[in-house]
Amino acid sequence: MSAIRKPVLPPATLGILGGGQLGRMMAQEARRMGYGVAVLDPSPGCPASHLADHHIQADFSDAAAVRKLASLSAVMTFEFENVDPSVMDGLESFPSLDPLFISRNRWREKNLARNLGISTAPFFAVNSLSDLRSACANPEIQKCKGAILKTCEGGYDGKGQWRLQKEDLDAAKTTISLDQFAESLNQELRTIFTGPRADFSSTTTGSDGAAFEPSIAMASEQTPEFILEGMVDFSLEFSIVGTGFSDGSFHCYAPVRNEHRNGILHRSLSSANLEKESRDLAVQYASSLSQHFRYVGTFAVEFFLENGKPVFNEMAPRPHNSGHLTMDAKISSQFEQHIRAICNLPAGSSEALCEAVMINLIGEDNSDLSGLEKALEIPGLRFHWYGKTESRKGRKMGHITAIHQDLFEAEKRAHQAFECLGWARQ
Ligand code: ATP
Ligand code: MG
Repeated sequence: MSAIRKPVLPPATLGILGGGQLGRMMAQEARRMGYGVAVLDPSPGCPASHLADHHIQADFSDAAAVRKLASLSAVMTFEFENVDPSVMDGLESFPSLDPLFISRNRWREKNLARNLGISTAPFFAVNSLSDLRSACANPEIQKCKGAILKTCEGGYDGKGQWRLQKEDLDAAKTTISLDQFAESLNQELRTIFTGPRADFSSTTTGSDGAAFEPSIAMASEQTPEFILEGMVDFSLEFSIVGTGFSDGSFHCYAPVRNEHRNGILHRSLSSANLEKESRDLAVQYASSLSQHFRYVGTFAVEFFLENGKPVFNEMAPRPHNSGHLTMDAKISSQFEQHIRAICNLPAGSSEALCEAVMINLIGEDNSDLSGLEKALEIPGLRFHWYGKTESRKGRKMGHITAIHQDLFEAEKRAHQAFECLGWARQ
């Protein structure tokens, strides 16, 4: 990265790799600030395309198309982490590819956290059933109330994960044969270690392309297929959403409380009500990640709160679903901060205007918006719809945010609205 970068001012064009809802919300803010927008995404009519000046409809692995995006753009950024590094060869992006390279692999990500002194759940490399068995028998895992086996790459929204209960851990400790142990696990898990592995990748497949030489020493390290993580006995989950700037500063919002359903974020509350000590430690952890990467742009760090202490879960090197409430409840949203950072402009204010509760609208097979009029009668309700052409089960179609000076009141109103939108019940 060049030492002194000139600010990128409107009407310059920002190039976004990925045209889903995050790309769309980035584009909304970019347009408000007078920038042009170019998007690369293979889907016709993808959410960001409705707001873009240019939509390059091509595969994410199409190097020529990525070059075309670069030629149209003053600055390039991403809305997802599984970017194929070989297509970015010689191109500059904000953030750089380093945080993407680390965060798209749980093994690298958790080791980095550990090396930076950030507290994590106990974790072990797993490549075979015998690795799994010895990881299960490890005293650090045995201390936990269960464990989760996760694919190192390609998992999202809870996909590519298998939970092992205490009984499974106990079975691993006894002298039963590996076959018997495999029997005690579910069928899906058994197939993984004996047959071809399921593909959990989303729209793109990340690859460790030879053209990419990350500046991080760990790059050459072999990474396992899976990790086994001890189950954290958390009282709540929260995230720190913040933005790193070229001058090395890091600006974040108050920690957001997150609640998941079926492995997918269900709702976020603008305040996690943490003790000052836990909040400061979580901010310090996020800030150390920002400094480590000399991060430029918005990212999120997900934490568990265990015995009042933050435990790192994962980082997302992009604006994050739990930061959507910043669009309605903070002076500068996570998308505005991202644009300011990648354009080398000063940081905006992360101060709160009010409290907020955001609820995701997750698609069902036949979703409709017949309850919307009723929901919109609720004062302080903000409705966001991503314009996806097709509703599918588990797909993020939009979200609602209720704002109020009082968090409890915001929560009540968000729930009233969610009830009105009957189709969104899960
Ligand atoms: P996303 O990318 O949507 O956040 P993901 O597939 O990367 O999801 P994780 O964040 O690793 O998955 O896990 C999803 C959820 O599963 C977590 O938010 C948490 O509720 C639960 N979970 C994951 N790991 C652990 C753990 N070690 N202990 C307890 N709960 C866990
Ligand atoms: Mg997660």
